[in-house]
Amino acid sequence: MQKGTIGVTTENIFPVIKKFLYSDHEIFLRELVSNAVDATQKLKTLSSFGEYKGELGLMDVKVTIDKEAGTLTVSDHGIGMTAEDIDKYINQIAFSGAEEFLKKYKDTANSIIGHFGLGFYSAFMVAKKVEILSLSYKEGAKGVKWSCDGSPEYEMQEIDKPHRGTDIVLYIDDENRQYLEQSTIDALLKKYCRFLPVPVISGKITEWKDGKEVETDKDNIINFTEPAWLKKPADLTREDYLKFYHDLYPGQEDPLFWIHLNVDYPFSLTGILFFPKIKNNIEVTKNRIQLYCNQVYVTDSVEGVVPEFMMLLQGVIDSPDIPLNVSRSYLQADNAVKKISGYITKKVSSRLEELFKEDRSEFEAKWDDIKIFIEYGMLTDQKFADAAMKFLLVKDTNDKYFTIDEYKALIEPTQTDKAGDIVFLYTTNPTEQYSFIKAAEDKGYNVLVMDGQLDSHFVGLLENKIEKSRFVRVDSDIVENIIPKDDKKASNLSPLQLNILSTLFQSQIPQIEGATFIVQFENLSADGMPVVITQNEYMRRMKEMAALQPGMNFYGQLPDSYNLNVNTSQAIIEKISSEAEAALKSDVEPLQSEIDSINNQITDLSKSTEEADKNKVKELTAKVDDVRHQMTEKITAYAAGQPLVKQVIDLALLANGLLKGSKLSDFISRSVKLL
Ligand code: ADP
Repeated sequence: MQKGTIGVTTENIFPVIKKFLYSDHEIFLRELVSNAVDATQKLKTLSSFGEYKGELGLMDVKVTIDKEAGTLTVSDHGIGMTAEDIDKYINQIAFSGAEEFLKKYKDTANSIIGHFGLGFYSAFMVAKKVEILSLSYKEGAKGVKWSCDGSPEYEMQEIDKPHRGTDIVLYIDDENRQYLEQSTIDALLKKYCRFLPVPVISGKITEWKDGKEVETDKDNIINFTEPAWLKKPADLTREDYLKFYHDLYPGQEDPLFWIHLNVDYPFSLTGILFFPKIKNNIEVTKNRIQLYCNQVYVTDSVEGVVPEFMMLLQGVIDSPDIPLNVSRSYLQADNAVKKISGYITKKVSSRLEELFKEDRSEFEAKWDDIKIFIEYGMLTDQKFADAAMKFLLVKDTNDKYFTIDEYKALIEPTQTDKAGDIVFLYTTNPTEQYSFIKAAEDKGYNVLVMDGQLDSHFVGLLENKIEKSRFVRVDSDIVENIIPKDDKKASNLSPLQLNILSTLFQSQIPQIEGATFIVQFENLSADGMPVVITQNEYMRRMKEMAALQPGMNFYGQLPDSYNLNVNTSQAIIEKISSEAEAALKSDVEPLQSEIDSINNQITDLSKSTEEADKNKVKELTAKVDDVRHQMTEKITAYAAGQPLVKQVIDLALLANGLLKGSKLSDFISRSVKLL
């Protein structure tokens, strides 16, 4: 029997392994099964080169639980190890400063295991004693048993082992007894080993018989040895892709489409990415892309490895070239990873372009569902944004789809403003903004539907991408002004009329919490609405952005600011104006001329530097305020008896969904009286 000390420079590595690798205990199984699979594959390779001439026989890997003995065993029929092999590969885990290293990286257990050949030793995270029973494939090899109880001392002796291959026997320690449960082991194997290339057997298939779950004599194979992503796209049918998708994410709706990745230069990468049908945000975080390294599951935290927008996609990426066994921050800085990420982006955009070109109507049919991926991609990835301009679609209120170039050509003749900018009109809610859409369409304009989750941000991106363009929500101004042109009509009111009308409307301004109103007078078409309420595009966008980003609270706290546009050519407004003028002229005119004359005096006196004159200016200013106040009171008193003014304002509020509660019922009873 050989006895010795395991060749680690640190006094005792096992307590370190146990202590620092705590959080990721479960990966020991991944490591042991991967080793078993590797050993199996190596023998297959040797056999195919004729270097191993014996029978291959059964080539599966078996995970067996013996509850009574308290052991978990991973067995393979691979190349096996001789005593020399064990000495070389297991006993000499030679690296210096192990303890220091482990301390430094204690949060990223994954990162050390495997990377430094610690895979096998991860068994000590859950076992108080580990045995290796092995028979090498080499001719004349003798069976060997290695055993170690967690101290750096091991024992090694010759044994009789009838079958080629290796058994790794773990004597599970008391704190880790869950690893003696079939259900725990099955779940772990399903997680890490589901796509390994060699059949992995875990217990027996069970059946329900007479109300009881009983074992059959059939082995329970937990993996698919030939995962779809490793096959050639030409060999896969639509059903194959769908089946693979549903195996990965049970209970999901069919994906919209998929992209099969396959490169071997300048790095090796395979995989299938699915565009899922997103119904809510929860699913997005639950069913993520899985990263594999040679068919071994590594992680589904792929931030930094795949482009950010692909966090919305699903599927599998498999690459031995992604340095999987290091920490994520290292990954993100890694150049190879950046290249891979760039490659995936390119591949996704060219595939989308292909789909668009091959079958535009199919692409349009899916557009509403895939739009979120494309917009998110464009918002987070400059290169993707440039590429996507070729297949990005916009939809108008008639459900017609256009590329940006097509749409620009459509609206350019009618929707170019006097500064030469093309104005893209859009609605965020076709039902609520119906009257504005109708007004715009009646004027010959086209309106886009931008009602997606990301659209308020996306509009800003499009403005940057499309030269000389501006996006304006259809209700942000009255239709006559929404695309400023040179044909604006001069006011049809005299200064006196304007004065009376503006005080009249000002006095009846709606009192709505969280909203302010500015009265404006416009000489619009006679068959338009008397009053139209609009919301300034700039202020609204600022508020929308503030809602999404902390730190922009200033805008977030401001009330919504609306414009109350009064159409001075409209018959009812003309009636209100002329009646008010008739009733108020005799009162207002003298007050107005008094204001004018005091103002003239103030202007003259302001030039003087005399103290006395300065005091006089103060006096006159107070007086002018007083007269103005009298005038306002007169007009306000008159307005109180004019239900029509309130009525036209309420009609406009109603059209914008702003008239609610008691104000709505006031409006209804006033309407009845007026009728
Ligand atoms: P790594 O797998 O990263 O090289 P491990 O500590 O997991 O590190 O394993 C060390 C070595 O031990 C392997 O490279 C392999 O040569 C050998 N080995 C481990 N498990 C087996 C096995 N089941 N059959 C044959 N050889 C094995």
